[in-house]
Amino acid sequence: MPVFPGGVTRATVEKDPIPFYVAYGEGAYLVDVDGNRLLDLNNNFTTLIHGHGFEPVCRAVSDLMRTGTCFANPTQHEIGLAELLVDRIPAMQQVRFVNSGTEAVMFAIKAARAFTGRPGIVRIEGAYHGAYDWAEAGQAVASNPDDRAATPRALPAYHGTPESVADDVHLIRFNDVEGLERRLYALRDRVACVLIDPMPSRAGLVHPTTTFIEALTSAARKNGILIIADEVLNLRQSYSGASPRYGLTPDLVTAGKIIGGGFPIGAIGGREEIMRVFGTEDARPLLPQGGTFSANPVSMVAGRVAMEAMTRENFDHLEALGERLRSGLLSSLNRTGAPFSVTGAASLFRIHPKRHAPTEFREALLSDAEGRVMKGLARHFLQHGILLPHGAAACLSTPMTNSDIDRVLTAFDDFLDVHAA
Ligand code: PLP
Repeated sequence: MPVFPGGVTRATVEKDPIPFYVAYGEGAYLVDVDGNRLLDLNNNFTTLIHGHGFEPVCRAVSDLMRTGTCFANPTQHEIGLAELLVDRIPAMQQVRFVNSGTEAVMFAIKAARAFTGRPGIVRIEGAYHGAYDWAEAGQAVASNPDDRAATPRALPAYHGTPESVADDVHLIRFNDVEGLERRLYALRDRVACVLIDPMPSRAGLVHPTTTFIEALTSAARKNGILIIADEVLNLRQSYSGASPRYGLTPDLVTAGKIIGGGFPIGAIGGREEIMRVFGTEDARPLLPQGGTFSANPVSMVAGRVAMEAMTRENFDHLEALGERLRSGLLSSLNRTGAPFSVTGAASLFRIHPKRHAPTEFREALLSDAEGRVMKGLARHFLQHGILLPHGAAACLSTPMTNSDIDRVLTAFDDFLDVHAA
């Protein structure tokens, strides 16, 4: 009997038919237990913006280890990372640390409820926001995927989640202005927040339209509904995160992944007026937030060092690599006429086995046949020494160079030649 039910300890691990085991990582590459060296386009689900074994983080963390890794009292390390985030991210006037993106989203939703006194959330059909019950409901398709006119209905995501969770979760489709306005005006007194990932990975890794962002902002403001930008994944888009790129001004922002420098982390930030629910100097908090490992010095130091190294120049470097990759993939598709498309921004990209790039979740969903094509592509990439996540966002890291990108492009060309032949 395996020690893990299902054979692994995370549902998100790709098995084809079994996962490969990593021996170690080194910069942009990882090496598996059989000695295969792979260019890592997964980077632990977009976390490792500097790739593996980033020297400044290794040094800072090993120095820190001997002086204690967690305390019940605060350390100055948490102030360092908090100040960096508050400096860079316009919507974060104040911040609180937790241990994962899931927790960050959970506390952002709780904060919005505590602040508004309303129970409901509006969220985008198909987007992934971690494992809090209310953030999960509606992450899978709820009704007939072909019925474009249907108003999606949230369902509890998994067995064991009470049906009642879905009563307070209302779905809209990404970039559907009319659906958004209908929902927000009809539900105004029952909804605390709209939860939105500015470029949701599972919903296609597509940009929001300007009209969608404008309609969201206007309808939310008019109805006293808070906007939570879940930037756990998309914070890596720029020095100030993703929202400013799209003209979005959220009330609360959640972060995670890259801000921990490779260690567990999550953060909730936002307007001071709202963040007061977590406490003020002279009043008991409406919403106590703790956590045994929250703001532990290891994650704080690793995160600060990793983020300090994410200078504007390094973001420009990633932007340029991402551009080279996406435009190279597109020119291969133009050359061959193969039925694929590419979405993404900055250091993020996703390849779709579809002629037309999706604009939202249902269009991004893969049929069984399309799923097999993507598995074939991932297998082909593995044979070329490249680890490509399929059905999710792939990403780049700062140690990558133009020649790494060109390797990916050559492998893709090769696949298309075989596939199209
Ligand atoms: N929110 C978004 C947008 C994510 O992409 C993820 C994880 O992929 C989460 C939340 C959950 O983060 P974690 O896996 O750290 O709990």
